Amino acid sequence: MNSVVVHYQEVALKGKNRPWFISRLVANLRAAVADLDVRSVRPLVGRIELTLGPTAKYDEVRDRIQHVFGVANCSRAGRSGRSLDEMAQAILADARDLEPESFRVSVRRADKRYPLRSPEVEREVGGRIKQARGWKVNLDNPALTVGIEILNDHAFYFFGKDKGPGGLPTGSGGRVACLLSGGIDSPVATWRMMKRGCQALLVHFHSYPFLSRASQEKARELAALLTRYQLHSRLFLVAFGEIQRQVVLSVPAALRVVVYRRLMLRIAERIAKDQGAGALVTGEVIGQVASQTLENMSVIGSVASLPVLRPLVGMDKEEIVAQAERIGTYEISIVPDQDCCQLFTPKHPATRARLDEVLAAEGLLPVEELVAGAVAAAEVEEFAFPAAATPAGEGTRG
Ligand code: ATP
Ligand code: MG
Repeated sequence: MNSVVVHYQEVALKGKNRPWFISRLVANLRAAVADLDVRSVRPLVGRIELTLGPTAKYDEVRDRIQHVFGVANCSRAGRSGRSLDEMAQAILADARDLEPESFRVSVRRADKRYPLRSPEVEREVGGRIKQARGWKVNLDNPALTVGIEILNDHAFYFFGKDKGPGGLPTGSGGRVACLLSGGIDSPVATWRMMKRGCQALLVHFHSYPFLSRASQEKARELAALLTRYQLHSRLFLVAFGEIQRQVVLSVPAALRVVVYRRLMLRIAERIAKDQGAGALVTGEVIGQVASQTLENMSVIGSVASLPVLRPLVGMDKEEIVAQAERIGTYEISIVPDQDCCQLFTPKHPATRARLDEVLAAEGLLPVEELVAGAVAAAEVEEFAFPAAATPAGEGTRG
């Protein structure tokens, strides 16, 4: 069985843009397996086929595919002729080591001119397997589903399906700039935007040399992990400690968190525009902490002209943690660090900052100078997966 059949999210990919989505997905799959022995990746009516070379390991290829957004599921598959006997024989040959409690055959015809209808093929091939192996048929809840897909000049067959990550192909949703702290929430927020097809640019604020480099290290680890899903990431490390020090000198304690956040958004927005990103993304959640009230979010968000997207806004902490664990960011996020939020942060931030008060406080700061200085001094790091691959989802804007 030298093929892998990849199915994409049918519903999401309907409509006029479908061919474009599919070509994007094919390009992303190619990039994701670029360093493995995969001979070809090509679209075949309604599915994508990867052809494995002799040294490719399916488990490794599957792991790569399971990080490519837009994939609904994949299966290791064999090719056979289209007659009932050819299909049944090929299946029986490759099922030698299988001994399922029960099974069924499930057929899809990509070629609707095929003389038999799907249920008939299921019955016929299923009957031959049952006769040869004595397996029990269970149509409703089979231990093994033998899949058959009949195309124009051959059939695919496979045993079960491995679930993909869903979502939309990276690069199909445009570019966004994600504010990535070392916390639990923002990596999940970033991942959710990536899942919707966005190429995520990462912006991390640190307080080195006021605090240790630990938060930068976490941001790098998170960037490396998230890069498995988009294959290429750009991480901006922005020094924020000196800005915080200046805020402390002139801004009343209660307003500082809101002023920090507005400065972060201003800086991130400038980087975003410079990089062709169309929105800012944060991990804010309504009511999660004192600074994340509706009032504060609106005062914070109003400083940006780009839309500020908050994909986690309505989620419970529990739900976010569960998602972080599934993605693998949780373990990195809970490592203690010295986040810049801990530096110069008051115990009791205002829960309802008023815009006029915030503007008055900011009036005492050299805002433009601070923002321009931070952007100019930002350090940029590139991440790629697999290590030497070409960027996926990166059009000509690279
Ligand atoms: P997180 O777990 O993402 O840090 P949080 O619940 O700790 O979120 P806050 O610290 O109030 O929330 O931060 C709100 C959002 O602001 C974060 O989700 C993130 O998008 C952004 N943010 C906060 N600190 C930083 C930072 N040091 N670098 C980049 N973005 C940050
Ligand atoms: Mg935080």
